[in-house]
Amino acid sequence: MATEQKYVYSFGDGKADGGATMKNLLGGKGANLAEMTNIGLPVPAGFTITTEVCNYYTDNKQQYPPELKSQVETALSKTEKVMGAEFGSKTNPLLLSCRSGARESMPGMMDTVLNIGLNDETVAALAKQAQNEAFAWDSYRRFIQMYGSVVLGMKSADKKDEDPFEEILHHAKQSAGVQYDSELSADQLKQVAANFKQAIKKQTGADFPTDPVEQVWGAIGAVFGSWTNDRAIVYRRDYGIPHEWGTATNVQAMVYGNLGDDCATGVGLTRDCSMGLPGFNGDYLINAQGEDVVAGIRTPKRIEKTLGEDAPEAFQQLQNIGKTLEHHYKEVQDIEFTVQRGKVWMLQTRNAKRTGFAAVRIAVDLVNEGLITEQQALEPRRIPADDLSQLLQPIFDPTTKAEAQQQGKLLAKGINAGPGAASGKICFHAADAETAFEEDPNVQLVLVRRETSPEDLRGMRIANGILTAFGGASSHAALVSRQMGKVCIVGCSELNIDYHEGTMRVGDTVLREGDWISIDGFTGEVFEGQLATSPSEVVEVLIHKTKSPEESETFQRYQQLMKWADNARTMAVRTNADQPDQADEAIAFGAEGIGLCRTEHMFFDHLDEIREMILARSADVRKQAVDKLLPFQREDFAGLFRAMQNRPVTIRLLDPPLNEFLSHRHLSEQPELAETLAKSIGTTPEAIHQRIDELHEENPMLGHRGCRLGIVFPEITAMQARAVFEAACIVKKEGIDVHPEVMIPLVGFLTEFKNQEEIVRAQAKAVFEETGITVDYLVGTMIEVPRAALCADQIATAAEFFSFGTNDLTQTALGMSRDDYGGFIGFYQENDIIGADPFQTIDRDGVGRLMKIGVEGGRSTRENLKLGICGEHGGEPASVMFCHEIGLDYVSCSPRRVPVARLAAAQRALMP
Ligand code: PEP
Ligand code: MG
Repeated sequence: MATEQKYVYSFGDGKADGGATMKNLLGGKGANLAEMTNIGLPVPAGFTITTEVCNYYTDNKQQYPPELKSQVETALSKTEKVMGAEFGSKTNPLLLSCRSGARESMPGMMDTVLNIGLNDETVAALAKQAQNEAFAWDSYRRFIQMYGSVVLGMKSADKKDEDPFEEILHHAKQSAGVQYDSELSADQLKQVAANFKQAIKKQTGADFPTDPVEQVWGAIGAVFGSWTNDRAIVYRRDYGIPHEWGTATNVQAMVYGNLGDDCATGVGLTRDCSMGLPGFNGDYLINAQGEDVVAGIRTPKRIEKTLGEDAPEAFQQLQNIGKTLEHHYKEVQDIEFTVQRGKVWMLQTRNAKRTGFAAVRIAVDLVNEGLITEQQALEPRRIPADDLSQLLQPIFDPTTKAEAQQQGKLLAKGINAGPGAASGKICFHAADAETAFEEDPNVQLVLVRRETSPEDLRGMRIANGILTAFGGASSHAALVSRQMGKVCIVGCSELNIDYHEGTMRVGDTVLREGDWISIDGFTGEVFEGQLATSPSEVVEVLIHKTKSPEESETFQRYQQLMKWADNARTMAVRTNADQPDQADEAIAFGAEGIGLCRTEHMFFDHLDEIREMILARSADVRKQAVDKLLPFQREDFAGLFRAMQNRPVTIRLLDPPLNEFLSHRHLSEQPELAETLAKSIGTTPEAIHQRIDELHEENPMLGHRGCRLGIVFPEITAMQARAVFEAACIVKKEGIDVHPEVMIPLVGFLTEFKNQEEIVRAQAKAVFEETGITVDYLVGTMIEVPRAALCADQIATAAEFFSFGTNDLTQTALGMSRDDYGGFIGFYQENDIIGADPFQTIDRDGVGRLMKIGVEGGRSTRENLKLGICGEHGGEPASVMFCHEIGLDYVSCSPRRVPVARLAAAQRALMP
């Protein structure tokens, strides 16, 4: 006979059917109740019904597998035996709790029912046993209230109405003249219970069930059903928890924290999870039930401050339990407990959620305390690599932020493009930011734009943060902000910006230039008003040098951790930087080279010359204009080479569509521009307009950009290549072993590459001959269009390296504009059409597949082909891990993402 499938796992009296490794089946709570029982901690007996039953229940119109009933009966009688009480007994009743528990915790999203088993008869027995009638009736009325709302669906008819039970309770307290529930007498509570039952009958038409067995099955059904309630579904979507996991249900004997002053209930942490300080801490309430701590009716007391005086024995037991748990789980635990007549009972333990600060401190401390190894400290579940960025950016104090949220100051949410917290006065124009800065170098501004363009760069440098209404995670605003280490939110489509009026509207709220706003680049939230920020100590030590390493424990632990990460990783980490200051910052953060210098960023400071070049109608005139740029470029490159010393520096030739530098939009936003340009090149404003008309493209992102510019205008490539090699020779002469890598953008055809390569190599040869100095250099390409990935074998016959430009590769592979997807991606994500934002996390199935083809193709014709990535994904942990998997040599990302990438690369290298 086939053995029956096991759906119910018992625990109690030092023995459990399950254990901590069975989270998938028993949920986190169930697995850990079993584990705690097995390691001898005091856990009230009970049983866990598996997540498989939840899925069965959801898929089979709320029916259970036929075997379940008898398995629950057997488990229940085991529980009765261990607890020495009987479910439904009129003399010695066992009462039960019924709680949800999924594989990962989903705090408050699903349902719970406590005190199951109470009815008019068992309540009398409970009163007698506890010698406390008020306690028994308070438990009973709580049960009716919870069961009524969770199982029987008694909610207020209108969302503006009060909860029907709370209303009855409120009246009872009013007529008794008391403030708290706990002050009601047994008789008054009896009346409350009767009124509750009456209300249930009136609203649902059914009597409140008095049969304990019916009650427990009702509660089990409600808990399984709550897996598919709205808030649970939304939560899962937000946290990427699969709907198919299901929840387990835990049925467990009740223990009471509200039998008197030798009882308590609380939640605790084995160490602080906000900053990571050691020591047991948490909240408790004397003489209360679990939900009172979270409900906020009474203000809980702090365990570490007063429990030692209020309940010294329980405090000691808790500290010992905390140590046992940390030694056993080798992780900080977040627990729920009840103290019943001086004895601590454990109701839950799980790995504690923590901030990035606490994560680093705790992981490093656990190594230093000998509990875990350096490699374990690096595990992503201990320190999600992204959380490291909390250590590198100013942040909002969490309570200040929560208060602002409560006060209705949260205005809107956009795409979180640059982490950190920034507050400042609204400024709509970069030029105004510059003026304000000249008047007051300490001015605090947030630059608010529909979108940003090259001319906004100086304003962006001054602003504390950047907020745009349009654009996505790889838009100009996003990638420039990240490179500058600025807080940035893009694609905040609820903003209605009127430059002429100088206003920013969100719904009915109108904010004006000069009004304060605060933006949280970790979450994409925009707040009205000024929220205080605190600076990053790591940045104070590494970049501003306003603190010494000895003064900052945060820095010391960061440094320890990064050393372990560097020992573990196999992939190099470079940075995307265009300027020596960015390069210096990136080196301080551990960058091993430059993976992308976008040379157009250097042109932003020389817009006059580049506009002259764009307006030129002949190659001669264009060459004259282009040559004016040569000295600037040379100086910029020399600066970068000096900053980077002997590290490799990848310089990409001009890439963006020229209309980013000059278009009708520029002319309309700067009314004097046409006139000025006309004067400087000796023509008329009309001719300027006409030329811009000629250059207009419907779809510039797919137009005349990338290598197509250098192919049609070879003088641009020649000038840039010459500037690179002249700079390299100058710096080499100074004694630095420079390694330039010239990169051709947006190549799709081998012939495109060869065309540009020839110009580059010719310039190198000429410069080496002129100077008598030679430098080692490489010529390679970006892989940014599907054709390049598919024809990588051909391209690699000439290209010495590939760098995946995943911003464009995502755009071209998905046919999704990197500037316009902000308008619909939120809807896509909310409706489960797409998971992660593909411009932030590599779309493995599509873009990732192209990358793999590119890697394999490239290495098939050039074995030692150097491979990297320089799209924005290069600093995103899941994408960094993917790059490791497909065998890239390096990732390149903005300076402040470098530590995140180092950690993510190490984490992937350590995985099997
Ligand atoms: C890319 O496309 O991924 C890239 C790095 O180039 P850019 O963002 O400058 O187009
Ligand atoms: Mg690109």
